[in-house]
Amino acid sequence: MRTFGVALFLSVLGAPLLAQSNAALMANDHYTRSHDYDLVHQRIVVSGFDWDSLSFEGDVTTTLVALRPGLDSIVLDEGALLANTAVTDRRGTVLRTARSGDTLVVFPASPVGFGDTLTFRVTYHGRVKDGDGLTYITPDGLPHRPRQIWSQGEDHNNHDWFPTFDFPSDKETWEMVATVPREDMAVSNGRLVSNVEHGATRTVTWNEDKPSATYLVSLVVAPLAKIHDSWQGVPVDYYVYHDDSAKAWRNFHVTPDMIGTYSELTGVRYPWDKYAQTTVADFFGGMENVSATTLVDWLPDARAYQDRPWYQWILIPHELAHQWFGDYVTTENWANMWLNEGFAEFMPGQYWGRKLGAHAEQDYYVDEYRQYVQIDRRRPMPLASLGSNNIYPKGALVLEMLERYLGPVRFWAGVHEYLTRHAFGVATSDDLRQAFLAATGVNLDRFWSEWVYQAGYPKFDVAATYDSASHALTLQVKQTQLDSLQADSTGLKFTVPAVFHMPVVVRVGTAAGDVTQRVDLDAREQTVTFRGLAGPPTMVIFDDGNLVLKGLTFPQPTAWLATELQRDPDLWDRTWAINQLGDRKDDSAAAAALAEAATGADYFQTRVEAADALGAFPAAVALPALETALRDTSAAVRSAALESLGEIGGDRAVALAKDAFAHDSSYEVRAAAVTALGRADAEHADEIVTEALRDSSYRDVIQTAALRLIAVSNDTARLGLLDSLERTTQNAAFVLAAMGSRGNAHALDILAAHLDDASAAARRWALQAFRFGMPQPMALARLREAADHLTRSDARTAVNDAIKQLSAQHGAR
Ligand SMILES: [Zn+2]
Repeated sequence: MRTFGVALFLSVLGAPLLAQSNAALMANDHYTRSHDYDLVHQRIVVSGFDWDSLSFEGDVTTTLVALRPGLDSIVLDEGALLANTAVTDRRGTVLRTARSGDTLVVFPASPVGFGDTLTFRVTYHGRVKDGDGLTYITPDGLPHRPRQIWSQGEDHNNHDWFPTFDFPSDKETWEMVATVPREDMAVSNGRLVSNVEHGATRTVTWNEDKPSATYLVSLVVAPLAKIHDSWQGVPVDYYVYHDDSAKAWRNFHVTPDMIGTYSELTGVRYPWDKYAQTTVADFFGGMENVSATTLVDWLPDARAYQDRPWYQWILIPHELAHQWFGDYVTTENWANMWLNEGFAEFMPGQYWGRKLGAHAEQDYYVDEYRQYVQIDRRRPMPLASLGSNNIYPKGALVLEMLERYLGPVRFWAGVHEYLTRHAFGVATSDDLRQAFLAATGVNLDRFWSEWVYQAGYPKFDVAATYDSASHALTLQVKQTQLDSLQADSTGLKFTVPAVFHMPVVVRVGTAAGDVTQRVDLDAREQTVTFRGLAGPPTMVIFDDGNLVLKGLTFPQPTAWLATELQRDPDLWDRTWAINQLGDRKDDSAAAAALAEAATGADYFQTRVEAADALGAFPAAVALPALETALRDTSAAVRSAALESLGEIGGDRAVALAKDAFAHDSSYEVRAAAVTALGRADAEHADEIVTEALRDSSYRDVIQTAALRLIAVSNDTARLGLLDSLERTTQNAAFVLAAMGSRGNAHALDILAAHLDDASAAARRWALQAFRFGMPQPMALARLREAADHLTRSDARTAVNDAIKQLSAQHGAR
């Protein structure tokens, strides 16, 4: 699974993010659910979908094997809204059942012996609470939003639409037989068996004959065009809205090459019968349903590729990686979920590294690093813990570190061992450690203890002194990370290692060339000495090659930093050096080093960061470099230059930003020009806001930049405009929420009125802005007040549900 969406926009507004789920209890193995049968196969037959009543007809035949002598009751998960009409065994005998909440108990006609098979059939009238298991989308007047249904199982929502064992530890095979309106397609897992039209309907049959976890069972029903591609004879299909047919190929055609690369790296050929990627509306990102990934319907247009669309850079390779990590080998329980998500987040960096070179790979992980340190600041948690907040970025970074620590040959041998040992099965964190042990002979127990089972990361404090008489350089290295974590309400307390044990290389530049020394870090404080240097150091790189995931405080002369920035090939190191230089606003040597990097560095992300840092420097030194950066071939560099020009301000900056807004071909650059103009020339920002709001761009980036200006300015004169925009863009609702959060009562009134809007989209967006765009107590109070005045029954239902969920979350804190 990979999510994005409102969080990105909210983080800019400084609004509260979603609550983190609570962790509980200690041992990861504790979280695997016991049951007394082995689920073997399910034939899931669904038909009669009704969008008004959120209902359908279900008929599910389940085959399982008893894992206890005399098994006389089978406990399944079945959503309380599924109304069973009959439960029968193979012979047609009606079986006694019991229901309680989301549990179905089936009593076989006679006890089933250990290892014996039982088959029974449940027919039912299905109904869902929209979004639980199935999401029904009705066209609500917006373009690009056909009527559709999509399922979402992870973590435990598939039992809301069919009875099953809804936990990852027990795999099964399945068939999906879906009867849908003739104009629609039904996409599901495995091999397409048949697709037969009869009258107003069609019946589509899929067979997933290789076992996987039940949370990966999926179904999409929508009017879809199928664009066919392939990899070594395996069908690779892209199912998109008919409108999007022309956009699909360029976006998705990277897939076969990614399948080939992942097959090569892991030594495990793509394991499923086909790979489908299907786009749907209102999706939170992507979901790796086995052989049938579901994705958000935001296909980049041709122009958006200048801005390296997230969709292709991360989303497609992330979900594809899950076909090995998550679907082929699955976490045994949710406390080991980093085995799914860490690998899925790690693999795209490996792919891009192989396609585009080492810098692209480092660029990918530097971004993960930024995400991780922010998350760790909120709450340090171990990778292997229930509800861990960092399994994506820390998982990717720890695996990347392991790859460098072992070297690629041993690393991939261990991964191969892990995948083949647990093929079509489940695994825990220690299974991965054991796979490395078996494949390489290396016991990673301490690495696992420090990086997987404990929280935090090492924070190094390094001080260098050079003795010119003895030509000796001495480094005092301290690990300063603190274990200040408190036990939570369940008594669970995570720990942060006092010492992380890793080898690092220190590189020292001198007039006579570089000298390196390998150091094994194994204490809170240690000293590293270089004797007999040819002369004073010209730079000192601690952890050359950036092996260790770390924080680094290391005061250095500007000249060392400038040399490192110029010479060090590693992007994390460069980012670190740029940050140090960026703090020296009165130092002309620092400005010169940044100016040189902004205009001449050999990788665009370094130019981006240097241009970004220049925004804090005096115009006289920054402006010439930023003008050059504005002509960069990389749109990201031009965007960064504009942001900095906005900070510097002045007539020249305004003129350059206006020119970029008028002429640049990149959406992101034009959005940055809007931001820059709003900042550099607030008095005349009205014009640009009006123009930008009319602009159409991929993911509305230009419009969003204008909306942010309104949000930041808190300009009440714009409320009328926001009111009308609320029906066409979700971000207008979030701006109203942000303004409301800062005490603008009128903005809140406008937003509350949209809770009862004639447009379903406007209602939905207003409610989301209340839920995710403002402090919970404020949202709760205002929703309770609004609930009494709603005229539409579906609006009342939605608002009351939101009140319930917000109160539960609020109470849980
Ligand atoms: Zn994922």
